Amino acid sequence: MPKIDYVVSEKVCTACGACEAICPVGAPRADQLRSEIKHEEDCSDVNLFEEECAYCVDCYACERVCPILDGFPGDDEFDNVRVVKAGRSKVHGQDGAVTSQILTSLFEQDEIDCAFGITRNEKWETEVVLMTRASDVAKTGGTKYNYMPVMASMRDIIRDVSQKYNKIAIVGCPCQSHAARLMKENLTDKIKLILGLVCMESFSYENLCQDIIPNKIGLDIEDVVKMDFAKGKFVATSKTGEVKKVKIKEVAPLARDGCHHCLDYTSHSADISLGSVGTGDGWNCVLVRTDVGEKYFNKVEGLELTDDVDLDMLKKLTDIKHKNNAWDYKEFMQRVWSIGYPNKIEQFGYEVPWKKEAENIQKYSQISAKEAPTP
Ligand code: SF4
Ligand code: SF4
Ligand code: SF4
Repeated sequence: MPKIDYVVSEKVCTACGACEAICPVGAPRADQLRSEIKHEEDCSDVNLFEEECAYCVDCYACERVCPILDGFPGDDEFDNVRVVKAGRSKVHGQDGAVTSQILTSLFEQDEIDCAFGITRNEKWETEVVLMTRASDVAKTGGTKYNYMPVMASMRDIIRDVSQKYNKIAIVGCPCQSHAARLMKENLTDKIKLILGLVCMESFSYENLCQDIIPNKIGLDIEDVVKMDFAKGKFVATSKTGEVKKVKIKEVAPLARDGCHHCLDYTSHSADISLGSVGTGDGWNCVLVRTDVGEKYFNKVEGLELTDDVDLDMLKKLTDIKHKNNAWDYKEFMQRVWSIGYPNKIEQFGYEVPWKKEAENIQKYSQISAKEAPTP
């Protein structure tokens, strides 16, 4: 049984979709709330001549890309930040639209050949779409707080025999950018750039669009043109320009289970983190964290940049998220990693070169370095 079973059963799954992307047989499927993993017994009553039922074969690949099983960044989410800027662009999008401008500019320069974005219809039903050119970017602008398992979309890309896409940019909230980092380290170096968003929480469609918006905000979902979190409030703007607000503490309990256990606010694993916090209206904060992030950010055209960022505000909100969501994840990690990685070599007859295995077993379990497998 892979350790992601514990992630799901203990309600800490973020539904990032990375396990669905990597699984060789297609046993996990992620929806807005969590992954669901099929085991052999789940398929015992299925006539496999009539219906597909892929079940887990205990290869453990999913353990290498699950952000929960990799652990959280710790108290200091800013230890790898090397450049801090406020930015804005002319491309339409939420606030400064820096994320859209980065993608647009890199598409135009042929630095990336695909990225995933989220579109919505009038009812705010969301869909993950593959962007392959600069003109696709505008369709995905604006933040949607109903969650989508974006990383699951990598399943088709990494299995595409024509190898059509080789310069992939990932845009995601902290759990997704963390999963993207693990996929890059363990599976494919075709992921070239990881753009991580600042994220306090997200919601299922039912909770956001069929409860919060009609019942707490008092708007018809089809009249809403923008949603945002600002100054302690959840804010929805209507087509007529009406702005309605509700205190965050009234909507936060309706966030997804995984979000209540999430201890990453600023996308610590991203190359570049982006958000609308700590800057003036119409501006985004930009935190560059890696060499790769710096390289690509320096290529981006069409951005106006200043140093006017209130980093203390970002740090304060990070602390609030850590405090609100505090749980003993180290106990969880010790427990699940202590299970080890049973009989891998005996089962497969070869060593799978997962890089994090020995590191995590040693970090979170009592297994001695001698017993742990070498990476
Ligand atoms: S252990 Fe392997 S087969 Fe099972 S869910 Fe994970 S990736 Fe799929
Ligand atoms: S957090 Fe992501 S990778 Fe881990 S079990 Fe959930 S969907 Fe799968
Ligand atoms: S709070 Fe944001 S980053 Fe954390 S699990 Fe929820 S959506 Fe993912």
